[in-house]
Amino acid sequence: MSEITILASVQQFLQRQHGHFIDGEQKASLNTQRFELINPATEQTISSISIGDKHDVEQAVQSAHHAFKQQWANISPYEKGVLLNKLADLVEQHAEELAQLETLNSGKMINISRHLEVAQSVVFLRYFAGWATKISGKTMQPSLPSMHGEKYTAFTLRQPVGVVAGIVPWNFSLMIGIWKIASALTTGCTIVLKPSEYTPLSLLRLAEIAIEAGIPKGVINVVTGLGETGQLLIASPLVKKVSFTGSVPTGIAIGKMAMDSDLTRVSLELGGKNAVAILADADIDQYLPSLLQSSLVHQGQVCAAPERFFVHQSRYDEFVAKCSAAMQQFKISSPLEEDAHFGPLSNASHFQKVKHYLDLARENQQILAGGEILEQHGFYMQPTLVRSTGMNDPIFCEEIFGPILAVMPFEHEDELIEKMNQGRFGLTASVWSNDLSKIMRMIPQLEVGTVWVNMHTFLDPSVPFGGAKASGIGREFSDAFIEDYTELKSVMMCY
Ligand code: NAD
Repeated sequence: MSEITILASVQQFLQRQHGHFIDGEQKASLNTQRFELINPATEQTISSISIGDKHDVEQAVQSAHHAFKQQWANISPYEKGVLLNKLADLVEQHAEELAQLETLNSGKMINISRHLEVAQSVVFLRYFAGWATKISGKTMQPSLPSMHGEKYTAFTLRQPVGVVAGIVPWNFSLMIGIWKIASALTTGCTIVLKPSEYTPLSLLRLAEIAIEAGIPKGVINVVTGLGETGQLLIASPLVKKVSFTGSVPTGIAIGKMAMDSDLTRVSLELGGKNAVAILADADIDQYLPSLLQSSLVHQGQVCAAPERFFVHQSRYDEFVAKCSAAMQQFKISSPLEEDAHFGPLSNASHFQKVKHYLDLARENQQILAGGEILEQHGFYMQPTLVRSTGMNDPIFCEEIFGPILAVMPFEHEDELIEKMNQGRFGLTASVWSNDLSKIMRMIPQLEVGTVWVNMHTFLDPSVPFGGAKASGIGREFSDAFIEDYTELKSVMMCY
């Protein structure tokens, strides 16, 4: 099948000399340094962005602060919800444009951009829109003694923290950006986003669409740039909360910076080394398509996706044979082809990182399926299954964030839990079985933020998501995000 036709609006957007999006409009940066955007499927330059400096960051934060105090503060919760729903409608109307920008910029398969990234962004926006009218405090009855007949009452207010800095990774720029925008706006905060330098285009376009939706200028700002631009944002005294999604080392550095910046609130959604347990009774034929989809969606570059597979020894050979055969059926091709299954990795530096693990697996003769780099333009490699050499095998304990799945047999459930919990990460895990008793005993013992049963890598706005251990601090979605974006104020009254 041939590649889809790129929309004229997308071509025009790529040709623009992009600046930042500040106070409701594109603003050129005084900094003349630019960062080139490379299409990972072709290695061709498709556009470039400004690298935000102190002046740009200050302008954006001032705009967000002004909008927080004035425009957004004076819009009722109901109207905030209406505006977020309007934004969802417009994202739906611009779905193909946003999906194409995302695919050209990140190498995501076009159908994943359309049906996962953009379509789910709309679902999340509408979910968060509903929260705008439901954020409330509590009333309390103090136990203070009444000396002269006076009475006491108390209540709490949930108040927006103020300007949020949203720092976004490259793997799902639009969707993760929207999680941060929607959490901030529905609680009454405003936001300055710093997308990944590799994939900033869809969020730059979204900021324009938000103005079309009627969201006042300054409520959503986007400053592009590298890590240093993010650091400038965190250091700004007007930024009251940092919402970061990215790797563990960057998350730790950001956490320290936020503490140094007068205890700026921080939530961290970080990496994982997610484990799958396939118990002795598992129906491998039934589960395999879902297992592979959840592991290899967006070429495995998903924080929640599994990378470590523990398979009961009675089913190990069967699993390896069936998984290898299925992986070889993947059609690897341009992400702009609608019937392809698997595209390139998202950028050159990440490709080199993943290739390092592939080289290691080849040196140690661990490869069970795949393992080849495609000799063509673009950052393509085969989805790969490797045999783990033990619990200290780097492929089995370091986050790869790519299409390399490592497998190890296990004998007893006690040994299984200990192994699944080994390591610094604690983002997600899954158990595949119909043995309810075993599953229910395992769930409380797994040291992760999310456990799935007979599924993996499904995020839903009604279910909290976040990491245990070094995989993060805080939770997104459901009602769990509210605490992170609001300050709880206590009021006591005597009458
Ligand atoms: P990264 O940590 O390299 O960068 C993330 C963002 O932080 C980018 O915008 C980058 O420019 C910025 N940044 C880098 N250094 C910074 C600094 N010192 N100060 C401020 N900002 C800085 O991560 P990445 O490579 O873009 O993304 C991949 C990682 O993200 C993986 O580890 C993955 O597991 C994780 N991730 C986690 C989740 C989650 O919800 N838990 C979701 C997606 C991705």
